[in-house]
Amino acid sequence: MIFDIEMIKEVYAKFPERVKVAREMTGKPLSLSEKILYTHLWDGLPASPYGRGKSYVDFAPDRVAMQDATAQMALLQFMQSGRKQAAVPSTVHCDHLIQAQVGAAKDLANAKQKSSEVFDFLQSVSNKYGIGFWEPGAGIIHQVVLENYAFPGGMMIGTDSHTVNAGGLGMVAIGVGGADAVDVMAGMPWELKFPKLIGVKLTGKLSGWTASKDVILKVAGILTVKGGTGAIVEYFGPGAESLSCTGKGTICNMGAEIGATTSTFGYDSKMGEYLRGTGRAEIADLADGIAEHLTGDAEVYANPEQYFDQVIEIDLSTLEPHINGPYTPDRATPLSEFAAAVKENGWPAKLEVGLIGSCTNSSYEDLTRSAHIAQQAIDKNLKVQSEFTVTPGSEQVRFTAERDGLLDKFDAMGGVVLANACGPCIGQWARHTDDPDRKNSIITSFNRNFAKRNDGNPNTHSFVASPEIVTAMAIAGDMTFNPMTDSLTNENGEQVRLEEPMGIEMPPAGFAVEDNGYHEPASDGSDINVVVAEGSERLQLLEPFQAWNGANIEGMRLIIKAKGKCTTDHISMAGPWLRFRGHLDNISNNTLTGAINFFNEEAGLVKNQLTGEYGSVPDVQRAYKAAGIPSIVVGDHNYGEGSSREHAAMQPRHLGMRIVLVKSFARIHETNLKKQGMLGITFKNEADYDKFQEDDIIDTLDLNEFQEGKSINLKLKHSDGSEDLIECNHTYNESQIDWFKAGSALNKIKADNKA
Ligand code: SF4
Repeated sequence: MIFDIEMIKEVYAKFPERVKVAREMTGKPLSLSEKILYTHLWDGLPASPYGRGKSYVDFAPDRVAMQDATAQMALLQFMQSGRKQAAVPSTVHCDHLIQAQVGAAKDLANAKQKSSEVFDFLQSVSNKYGIGFWEPGAGIIHQVVLENYAFPGGMMIGTDSHTVNAGGLGMVAIGVGGADAVDVMAGMPWELKFPKLIGVKLTGKLSGWTASKDVILKVAGILTVKGGTGAIVEYFGPGAESLSCTGKGTICNMGAEIGATTSTFGYDSKMGEYLRGTGRAEIADLADGIAEHLTGDAEVYANPEQYFDQVIEIDLSTLEPHINGPYTPDRATPLSEFAAAVKENGWPAKLEVGLIGSCTNSSYEDLTRSAHIAQQAIDKNLKVQSEFTVTPGSEQVRFTAERDGLLDKFDAMGGVVLANACGPCIGQWARHTDDPDRKNSIITSFNRNFAKRNDGNPNTHSFVASPEIVTAMAIAGDMTFNPMTDSLTNENGEQVRLEEPMGIEMPPAGFAVEDNGYHEPASDGSDINVVVAEGSERLQLLEPFQAWNGANIEGMRLIIKAKGKCTTDHISMAGPWLRFRGHLDNISNNTLTGAINFFNEEAGLVKNQLTGEYGSVPDVQRAYKAAGIPSIVVGDHNYGEGSSREHAAMQPRHLGMRIVLVKSFARIHETNLKKQGMLGITFKNEADYDKFQEDDIIDTLDLNEFQEGKSINLKLKHSDGSEDLIECNHTYNESQIDWFKAGSALNKIKADNKA
C-alpha cells in the first residue's frame, strides 16, 4: 500500500468533531474549504473566526509532495534541519527533467543518463529520510498524487504550483516554495494567510465538444490571472457532481492560472468511484462514513452569496468550448468567436503542433475522448496537418491506455507518445522547427502559456484548450477551424465532419500497471549515504545566508526596474536552466534575465552604475556584490506570478539583492522572499514606481524599527541631486520578521532545533 491509511484514519477521526466546534465558533454553516482549514489548524480552534484574507494562520498539512526540479533545493535545505525522517508522509516525483525529443523510450533513457547525478541524489536522500520516491518515467507529480495520495478532506502542500490539482479529490492542496516544504517536513507549522472564498456554482451538464477544461478556461477569462489571488475557489452545485473526478482535477489544476490559493470540490460519488477504481476502496469507505462533513453545508450552497466573498455561476449546458491565449491563460475566447479573433489579431492561422496530456489533462477520460477524434481522422481518411504529441500523466494511465488500444490510435494518426513527464509543458522540448524566427502557433491541453514557456521561442503563440479540441485542431492544422461547424477535406477530396467526442471516465477493465516506478524508502535510513557528486555542476550543498545586522540598508543601487509582467519564469527562467536547480551559484546566472528593464525595454540588460556600461542582471549584480554594494529590485503588479520556485527568491538573495519593491506580489513568491530573508515590500502609493530613476542610490530610513504593521520608508537620491521619499507597506508578521533577522527561515529553524 503506497498511501498512508493510518494518517487518513487520524484525519477522519477528528474531522466531524472539529467541524462541529468550528461551526459553533463561527456561528454559521461552513463551506468545505473552511471545514478543511479549521480541521488542519496547528494549534486547535481559535476563540473567534479568522479574518479571511487578513489573519496569518499556522496549519498542519497531512502530506508533502515534491517534483524533481524543486525537490533538489528543498531536500538540500531539509538535510540541514537535523531530523532523521520527514515529519509527515512525503514523496518525490521525477518528472520535470525529462526532455521531449523523439519519443518516450529514447527520451527517458537520455534523461536518465543526463540527469543521473540528480536522480541518484534524490533517490538516496529520499531513501535516507523516509520519503517515497517515484523514478523518472513513473509520471507527472500531480497525476501520480491524484491516483495514489489525494483524499477528500485532506490538506497537502507541494513544491509546485499545480499541486492544486488534488482539489479534484476534495483536498485543500496548495503549491508552495521548497522552503515551506522544508518547514513541514521538519515538523514545523506551515503558515498561510487565511484565504478568502470564491464560490463557483455549476448547474447543467456538459455535452458534446465541451469538457471540464472549458469550465476553468471560462473561469480564467472571468477572474483573470489575478482574480483568484488569496482565495480558495470552491465548486459546488448539481453541475459539479456531474463532472468526473479527473475532470474536477483539471479544473482545480488550472486554478493556479488565476492565482488562486487552491480550488476544491465536495466529496461525491464520482470521487468515491475514482478512489475505488484506483485501488483505494478503503479510503472511499472511510470517506463514505463521514461524507456529510466532506462537503460544504447545505445552507452555504443554497445561499452562496451570504457565505462566499464572491460567487460565479456557470451553466454547463450552455458552456461553449474555449481557447485561451496567446501568451496568457486568461485571454479566453469562445470557440465560435475564435476564428474571427485569429484574423483580427493577426495570430498565425497555421497550426504547427498540437500537444495533449500533461498533469492538467491526461486522464483516461481525456485520452478516450481524444482517441475518439483520432479514430475519426483514421476512419474518414483525413491527413493530420500538424505535428501531434501525447504526454501521459502516469505510467498507470499510459499502461492502461496502451492496453486498451488508445495509444495505437494516436500512433495511427501520426502522433508521438512522449515520456510520462512534463516535457514540452515546462520547456523541456527539443522542438523541430525549420525557422525559429517565424511567428507560429501551437495549441496544448496544458495549463500555462506564457511567452517562451513551451519551446523558449518568443515567436510561438501558445494557446490552451481541452485535449479533444487540441486533437481536432491538429487534424485540421488550422487555428480558424471550428470542429463544431466546419468540415474538412479528406484524402479522397470529400468534405467530412468530425463528430462530437465520446469518452469513458474509468477504464472498463480497470486500471493496470506492471511497474509503477515507486520506491519505498528504508524504514531506518541512518546508514544510507546521500549521493552528492564531487565538483558537481548541478548540486551544491548550501551555505546559510548572513543574518541581518539590525541596521538600515544604505547605498542600494537599483539593479532593475522591471516593467509589466514579471513572472517567476522571468526571474528564474526554466527550460535549459532546470538542470542547475540544485546548484544555487550556477542557476543564479539566469537571475531576472527575462525581466524587461523599464529604462531600455530590453530583457535583463541593465546599467552597471559603477562603470556606466550595460550588462546582464547577474553580471552587474555580481559586480555590486564584489564591491559590497546592496541593491534593490523594483517591479510592477503581481510580481512573481507563475510557478512556486523558491529559486526566484534565493537567487536574488544569493547575488546580494536585499529588497524587492513592487506594486503587488503573487502570493507564493512573496512568501518565498520572506523565507529567504529578503525584504519584499509594496508601494503604498503605486505612482511612486515612476519616481525611480536608473542612477538612483537608495536608503531605507526606518528598517531598524522593522515591526509588524509599520510601514517602511525609503529615500531615493537621484543623480541630479534631488531626492524623493516614498512609503512602503509590508505584510511581515512577527515570526516572519524573525526570519528576516536570522537571515532566512531555515537559519531560524536550525537555531530553534538546537535550542
Ligand atoms: S504544469 Fe506542466 S510542468 Fe507543471 S507539473 Fe504539470 S505537466 Fe509538469
